[in-house]
Amino acid sequence: MASNPRRPYVYRFGSARTEGDASMKNLLGGKGANLAEMCRLGIPVPGGFTISTEACTAYTEQGREAVLALIRGEVLEGVAFVEQEMGKRFGNAADPLLLSVRSGARASMPGMMDTILNLGLNDEAVQGLAARSGNPRFAWDSYRRFIQMYGDVVMGLKPARKEDHDPFEVIIDMVKEKKGVTLDTELDAADLQELVARFKALIRARIGHDFPTDPWEQLWGAVVAVFESWNNERARVYRELNDIPASWGTAVNVQAMVFGNLGDSSATGVAFTRDAGTGEDLFNGEFLVNAQGEDVVAGIRTPQQVTLEGSRRWAALACVDEDTRRARYPSLEELMPDLYRQLLQAETTLENHFKDMQDLEFTIQQGRLWMLQTRNGKRTGAAMVRIAIEMLDQGLIDEATALKRVDPERLNELLHPVFDRQALAGAQVIARGLPASPGAASGQIVFFADEADALARQGQAVILVRQETSPEDLRGMSVAQGILTARGGMTSHAAVVARGMGKCCVSGAGAVRVDMHARTMTVGDATFHEGDWLSLNGSTGEVFAGRLATREAELSGDFGRLMALADAHKRLEVRTNADTPEEAAIARRFGATGIGLCRTEHMFFEGQRIVAMREMILADSRAGRQAALAKLLPMQRSDFEGLFREMSGLPVTIRLLDPPLHEFVPHDEAGQRALARETGVSLARIQARVEALHEANPMMGHRGCRLGISHPEITEMQARAVFEAALNAQARGIAVHPEIMVPLVGTVREFNAQAAVIRRTAEAVFAERGARIAYQIGTMIETPRAALVAESIGAQAEFFSFGTNDLTQMTLGFSRDDAGRFLPTYLAQGMYEHDPFRSIDQKGVGQLVQMAVAKGRSVRPGIATGVCGEHGGDPASVAFFHRAGLDYVSCSPFRVPIARLAAAQAALG
Ligand code: PEP
Ligand code: MG
Repeated sequence: MASNPRRPYVYRFGSARTEGDASMKNLLGGKGANLAEMCRLGIPVPGGFTISTEACTAYTEQGREAVLALIRGEVLEGVAFVEQEMGKRFGNAADPLLLSVRSGARASMPGMMDTILNLGLNDEAVQGLAARSGNPRFAWDSYRRFIQMYGDVVMGLKPARKEDHDPFEVIIDMVKEKKGVTLDTELDAADLQELVARFKALIRARIGHDFPTDPWEQLWGAVVAVFESWNNERARVYRELNDIPASWGTAVNVQAMVFGNLGDSSATGVAFTRDAGTGEDLFNGEFLVNAQGEDVVAGIRTPQQVTLEGSRRWAALACVDEDTRRARYPSLEELMPDLYRQLLQAETTLENHFKDMQDLEFTIQQGRLWMLQTRNGKRTGAAMVRIAIEMLDQGLIDEATALKRVDPERLNELLHPVFDRQALAGAQVIARGLPASPGAASGQIVFFADEADALARQGQAVILVRQETSPEDLRGMSVAQGILTARGGMTSHAAVVARGMGKCCVSGAGAVRVDMHARTMTVGDATFHEGDWLSLNGSTGEVFAGRLATREAELSGDFGRLMALADAHKRLEVRTNADTPEEAAIARRFGATGIGLCRTEHMFFEGQRIVAMREMILADSRAGRQAALAKLLPMQRSDFEGLFREMSGLPVTIRLLDPPLHEFVPHDEAGQRALARETGVSLARIQARVEALHEANPMMGHRGCRLGISHPEITEMQARAVFEAALNAQARGIAVHPEIMVPLVGTVREFNAQAAVIRRTAEAVFAERGARIAYQIGTMIETPRAALVAESIGAQAEFFSFGTNDLTQMTLGFSRDDAGRFLPTYLAQGMYEHDPFRSIDQKGVGQLVQMAVAKGRSVRPGIATGVCGEHGGDPASVAFFHRAGLDYVSCSPFRVPIARLAAAQAALG
């Protein structure tokens, strides 16, 4: 049998031949696959090749020498191909081919891994480059950038402490100071040559050996450094935050350099085919003349806008008048109209081809346009919705694609509060920056990412304030309420990452001066210190002093349309877990079609109610308990009336009292003394009762239906409150559908005992009132035993509601109260893939759900089945419940839209 030829490690792309395509992302990474696809579309791309993710995996498993032995021959061929494409030779000092070496994983991880530019330069080649380009300044600047990047990334020369500056930047500052200039651009070729010498000396002193001069040694070092960067701290954090498996690895793209810093007919930029913040169908982007790509992303110079329209909008926000704008910040459309037209053509071709918003990188080298990257652009939740709906209307995508384009979790951003108008009226705008990522955020100022992380862990709301952010700040950014940077444009690291996270961000607030050493932020005469409150509006770019109140978001038209589309495609109903009429009203506004769980114990914790509840618990006779329950009855009844009113015409599932009674009594002496005063019961008796109620393991103790079985009068009072409320509501013309639910059942006898109390009470109330209503009695399935004997319970219960919180606790043997102590370690070690309390354990707990549904239906074919544990609002779990054939999920009000969309995506497969 012929053996399979081994799959190549290297895939070439360029004008003469292209071996990969867009479908090969797993092997070539997103960047490599799309570079190949652009070549196939005839878009100008500098020649290059991609080393596959399989080589990265080989590196992780076998190490440097082994992987270089595997790929060496193919890389040599790849370089020869690039030489042909560009008409230059690698290592030819007279006219050197220079290369870029970039990472590119399957999923985009902007800025998380490493990049090396201008590779191939050394003391001889820099002379050749100077002679060929006729621009010695450019040549020496390229060389100093290369040494700086390579020194940092490959040779590991970093600042000693986080407060310290980059050691290379310190040298640049020294040289500038010596010369008496402030800008890098004021340094001439001789200054840059001096920088190169000083950089090399620094490397020799700090690392102990010389900067490598052999281009091939440089190349192997860079390739390995990119593989290595897959496992650096920031890449690991990013993967953790975005659920990207460590096993994927990164590809390495080696490509001919093109230069945006070869004078005034050169430029470099980043563009989006639609607005990544709002979703508006408007081509937009930023560029810098005579610059390299990293200058745009680093946000050090103020970038110009690609389009005239964008430039005008930017000027209005930045308070730049039209004459100044045209003179100092003209758009590419005005400055280089022909190249702008070529770029516009490329962006149209690419968006139509990929049928999604594209994020593009381009370079113009002496009047010639090159595309360096295209990928589906990261965007805010609002932009996700708008782009999906508008692309549907434009006929670019169908309904199913539009629904799948929106990440359900990202809807969160549309549902969350914005600043209260009244609070805004009195607020003081201290600075304005770019509206980099929408939302409203208030928090206390913090200047370092690791400190933001530490404070957020203590529950503090923080705003991370930085000169500019870098990928090291990722963890701090993810926990901050918002991010403010003094520098940087809409495509700076802070802006792109914040949008990806759905985090409020204002970037490039030029009036803000940050002093990291003094830990202060100054705007005009005002100085703000660490810990001072600040508020940001990421939708307008405004920065406010102090803390501002927020209000609920209004749901926009596109959002409504997306939800209607979701409803048309989904099969699962989405109900809500709501304990108050207010929550019920919010959930209904978000499209819930009923209450799937009302936890009645939550109604007993407030104000005077807890006093009556405690009286009931302290009573030592049935009569005493009934007297206390009689005080609770009217309160419960009015709550239930509120729920029926808000959910008019829809089912309302009310669960009997669940928690252990000891949760209602005070455990400290001061509280117990106060209770003695309030109730007239002696302190000693109260303490004895608290002692008697104490349980070693309350989660498995006297709770759920066990309470109602010990004290049927509690069930009787609750059932009476439900039926009286339902009849009152019905008398006011409200259509009521009460469903009473018995918790924590393990045997059908428990269910039957409670159902008998409920039925008896119903008949008594109906007789008193001379009116009836239809109602259902069902059970929760939240102990493994209930799932195992679901056919006997199903023969009696009219519905099953899976309490997946308890079912997870009891199936895994993980205490809901204590799992936090070991779960992080468990997840880090891969014992479970996800937190089983957040996303259903499909293989274990999921099987119990499937089995109980089948058993229930075998005895009662139409039995209604739903989920009311936290998993009801988790998209992956919703997909599982769809496949398991349940009728509904129930989740907290703010997760209702997320569950509706997840249900539609599940139905679309
Ligand atoms: C459950 O156990 O999943 C449930 C919904 O009940 P609770 O969280 O109130 O125990
Ligand atoms: Mg439960």
